[in-house]
Amino acid sequence: MMSRAAPALDFDFLIVGGGITGCVMASLLVNRKLAAPGRVAIIANEAPPAAVPAVADSDWGLRVFALSRASQRLLILCGAWQLLPAQKYNPYERMCVWDGRGGQPLGGTPRGEPQGSGSLSFDCAELGEPNLGYIVEGRALQWACRRAATDAGVVFVDAGILKIAVDPAHVRVSLADGRDLQGQLLIAADGADSTARTLLGIETAGHAYHQDALVAHVRTALSHRNTAWQRFLPTGPLAFLPLPDGRSSIVWSTTRPEAGRLRALAAAAFGAELSAASGEVLGSCELTTPIASFPLKLQYALDYVRPRAVLVGDAAHAVHPLAGQGLNLGLLDCAVLAEVLGGDSRGPVGFGEHKLLRRYERRRKSENLLAATAFDGLERLFSNDNAAVARLRMVGLGAVGRVPFIKRRLAERALGLSGDVPEFLVKVVT
Ligand SMILES: Cc1cc2nc3c(=O)[nH]c(=O)nc-3n(C[C@H](O)[C@H](O)[C@H](O)COP(=O)(O)OP(=O)(O)OC[C@H]3O[C@@H](n4cnc5c(N)ncnc54)[C@H](O)[C@@H]3O)c2cc1C
Repeated sequence: MMSRAAPALDFDFLIVGGGITGCVMASLLVNRKLAAPGRVAIIANEAPPAAVPAVADSDWGLRVFALSRASQRLLILCGAWQLLPAQKYNPYERMCVWDGRGGQPLGGTPRGEPQGSGSLSFDCAELGEPNLGYIVEGRALQWACRRAATDAGVVFVDAGILKIAVDPAHVRVSLADGRDLQGQLLIAADGADSTARTLLGIETAGHAYHQDALVAHVRTALSHRNTAWQRFLPTGPLAFLPLPDGRSSIVWSTTRPEAGRLRALAAAAFGAELSAASGEVLGSCELTTPIASFPLKLQYALDYVRPRAVLVGDAAHAVHPLAGQGLNLGLLDCAVLAEVLGGDSRGPVGFGEHKLLRRYERRRKSENLLAATAFDGLERLFSNDNAAVARLRMVGLGAVGRVPFIKRRLAERALGLSGDVPEFLVKVVT
């Protein structure tokens, strides 16, 4: 006699990927009352991160995020921000960006602040804001987001996915361990190499940057002054993000051969090259951690939706880290999707409706493509050696700095407080 297959476990929402984006999406669905506790499942292929004591130690892991004020508001709304140990985030007050052609901060002192044409800086005081955003430790953030989702009654199912099938009433997922899950809507939040996106038959476009981002923490002779520094070099941008213990987290994007050469250097030699590459803006640099390396690419999904399925986060778009916006964009995807779903009064049956999902796609695809293209354009602009282009860069950066309106609009975008931001996010008290 043939054994009957077990009935599919039933939920309203199935989220593939238990990273920061997946966990925030899940908590938000419960928080916005789009699903009851127990009705959202996250299919995760990673063990839960370390418990609080390990997360709360004073040292910082290598993955660090610059989060916008909008992302902070979303994390507050999800209950994740409140769980972050205070030593795991640092508000930053200023941002300074400059063209590194010539090896010294343009117009500034050799060991001082870049000024004048070819540089641009933003100060929270000028904008009437308490800060420009937060530098947050990735490990602690991942832990807090997963814990907040668990507290919200989200069910974690640890298994790989094999198949996604859609019928008029449900989306069904077959798992590698033999179980089947069903829901009204599947949300793919499983990152740039998304299996769910592939199973849904959604194609991507983009290109490799032929660059690696080197990530490490360094001690610098001069104080970082709670400033995020970014120097554009012909080989790629070099950023210093201020950590609460006085060190900075660097993200040094450079050509692949150059990244290989730098990684192979002894710590002291790496520190010396870093100081030189930064134009000594923070004086000499001392490497205090191993170096992690990430290959960089621009990738965007051609579609964000299929019947009863939708992409969020890096599954939909992977951008150059030069503006530190990848996760911020993914979190805004979650907020807009929740807003769009919240606009449908029919509850779970309406959530998979293509017309509704297309509304989300229209809003986020244009914003994300605009951001991806802007970062891509910046990367190309600053890696171009042509003298006329170099002049254009200098004039452009200086001009933006001198027109308060444009400067303010740019800053508000970076804070995540302008553009297509859901109303419920604007209202969150920080
Ligand atoms: C060097 C560097 C610096 C960056 N700095 C910043 C910054 O300062 N600020 C910022 O906003 N962004 C930054 N980014 C971008 C940011 O890292 C990404 O945008 C963000 O991590 C994407 O989150 P995600 O949850 O969408 O995907 P991921 O972080 O990739 O998470 C995907 C999750 O899905 C899981 N998964 C994968 N496949 C499956 C599967 N088949 N089944 C189940 N689960 C699966 C994974 O295990 C993981 O948990 C940076 C990126 C780089 C490379």
